[in-house]
Amino acid sequence: MARASTAPRGDAPAAGWPGVGAALAGRLAKLDIRSPRDLLLHLPLRYEDETRLTPIAAARAGFPAQVEGEVTSCEVTLRPRRQLVARIRDDSGTLVARWLHFYPSQQKLLAPGRRVRLFGEVRGGFFGDEMVHPRVHPVAEGEALPEALTPVYPTTAGLGQATLRRLIDQALKSEPLDDWLPEAVRRRLDLPGFADALRLLHHPPPEVPASVLEDRQHPAWRRIKFEELLAQQISLRRAYLARRAKTAPVLAGSGRLAQALLAGLPFALTGAQRRVVAEIGADLAQPHPMQRLLMGDVGSGKTIVAALAMLQAVDAGYQAALMAPTEILAEQHWQKLSAWLAPLGVEVAWLAGSRGKRAREAELARLASGEVPLAVGTHALIEDPVALPRLGLAVVDEQHRFGVRQRLALREKGAAGTLSPHLLMMSATPIPRTLAMSHYADLDVSVLDELPPGRTPVLTKLVSDARREEVVARVRDGCLAGRQAYWVCPLIEESEALQLQTAQDTYATLCEALPELRIGLVHGRLKPAEKSATMAAFAAGELHLLVATTVIEVGVDVPNASLMVIEHAERFGLAQLHQLRGRVGRGSAESVCILLYAQPLSQTGRARLKVIFENADGFAIAREDLRIRGPGEFVGARQSGLPLLRYADLEVDADLLEAARALGETLLRDEPQAAAALMARWLGGREGLLRA
Ligand code: ADP
Ligand code: MG
Repeated sequence: MARASTAPRGDAPAAGWPGVGAALAGRLAKLDIRSPRDLLLHLPLRYEDETRLTPIAAARAGFPAQVEGEVTSCEVTLRPRRQLVARIRDDSGTLVARWLHFYPSQQKLLAPGRRVRLFGEVRGGFFGDEMVHPRVHPVAEGEALPEALTPVYPTTAGLGQATLRRLIDQALKSEPLDDWLPEAVRRRLDLPGFADALRLLHHPPPEVPASVLEDRQHPAWRRIKFEELLAQQISLRRAYLARRAKTAPVLAGSGRLAQALLAGLPFALTGAQRRVVAEIGADLAQPHPMQRLLMGDVGSGKTIVAALAMLQAVDAGYQAALMAPTEILAEQHWQKLSAWLAPLGVEVAWLAGSRGKRAREAELARLASGEVPLAVGTHALIEDPVALPRLGLAVVDEQHRFGVRQRLALREKGAAGTLSPHLLMMSATPIPRTLAMSHYADLDVSVLDELPPGRTPVLTKLVSDARREEVVARVRDGCLAGRQAYWVCPLIEESEALQLQTAQDTYATLCEALPELRIGLVHGRLKPAEKSATMAAFAAGELHLLVATTVIEVGVDVPNASLMVIEHAERFGLAQLHQLRGRVGRGSAESVCILLYAQPLSQTGRARLKVIFENADGFAIAREDLRIRGPGEFVGARQSGLPLLRYADLEVDADLLEAARALGETLLRDEPQAAAALMARWLGGREGLLRA
């Protein structure tokens, strides 16, 4: 999955930026600064206090200090390595300053007899007290000290603080600092004006302590964070409205097929399922494309909801497609849908990379002619030759596993002239409320907050690796008593080869330790036919134990499996552990999930295991995950189309988020000019990328 990185903007630095040449513009672009306007919002990471001087003798090791004195010597030494060494003296003592990288200009600056100020951290060194790589600048005797704290900006190689400061100060003078917030809102939230907030953060007056600024709760910071959240809300709202302006096929049939499916099911829908089926059904009957996220914890029964929505499309004379991230899952969906729908006379095509060319071409032809109304597949569905001329609904399962472009690509398979198909995304990785309100605010969300009846909660056990033998014995007893079990191999993220090796070793060891059990192995490198044969054997109860890598993480549904062992559980992420554990507890048998861990545990490893041990609810786990990791990884592939928040913190600034959400909508409607200006200020050219 693609991680992090700022949104691509593709545009060159703004033309006509006086005093900024190509090299400098390139470095600024690395910081996502492409115009003087962007500089305004490049805010300090922290501050240094150069408003005071410390006598050399009083400088304490390990603390930043500013000293001023006269250079007594300056030379380039070659041992132990080439470096510039200068001695500086004031009334209280002498200090050595060393630079391992330096320019000739620096040497000139440090000519004996010159007066300089050094800012850095003192430490005891080979030559006595010293500063390594202090900042240095020449001063005249008695020169005044700065009155404000000195900002330290995030920067990149080859771009010095002094240059950044100069450019930012210029921008503060030349750029308009209009305040686009309604006065009433500012007063209600007790926020300063934009210009005041910005000036204060770039040049805090001496009476504002650096610590108050650094924890970012000062009103000036809150003002900036509020604007950032507001700009995000406005752009999401705009994307939402733009989508509403498009035309979609109206999927309003007789409901005959859905009724027939429900009548044939061995279970009744839960209340939550009925509710979301109605929500989705109402959207599908609208003439503009749905963009809805169905969130439901593992095992909450999302597949049947998707099937009912797809039948609504078929009933109205359209096609529907369901895309899943792994081949195992796609095949399982295909089998399940086929079994449900064959009695209704509705055919399902299956597209996966592994299917033979002949089979694939036949499926493609039947889809292209519209003869087969439903398609299930992996990302093979979005490859070139696939045509779904009457696509009315695209469903993406485990949507967070796909990138923005992939999700959109599925919808674009509908060549139905000017009509945009509806899009339903499904995820078992719940999005915490704050994220749903921010990064996902342009989606409509349905929540399955109820598990089907008859499930017994999974009992989770934390067991040290030292007791592996006992666990193996437990698997033996369980399987001989008619249960089925998963054994999840340790995750080795760094190397796929090593991961494979580990899976094979684990399999061999378990086969040896458990000769009385029938054991299968699935991993990512298996040929698809072998993989599906093994999965089928496990599903049919022909295998007792399935040794698996995380290929079984999503979606796999074998209700008779009631025991799971996860080796080196401390290496897995929280969402992953929750998903894996969700493979058991799907039938009526009491299920157990054993998390084997190796000592010593890292602090985060321990924190994660504690969360998974204490929580069964996916939402609670996701919230903890957000707290431990921050939203960066959470948003996952989605962020490739969306700039993450730079300053606002969704948890800490939840109150600002609420206010921004309310204001975003009214501003866009009542003061479009202010809304556009805020978006331009915060998102520059980026808002166009926000589409799914
Ligand atoms: P997920 O939300 O994780 O995708 P699935 O759709 O795979 O969950 O459903 C999990 C299991 O629960 C499946 O075996 C499914 O057939 C079954 N199921 C779904 N809805 C119900 C229900 N209302 N009552 C009983 N079993 C159900
Ligand atoms: Mg599922």
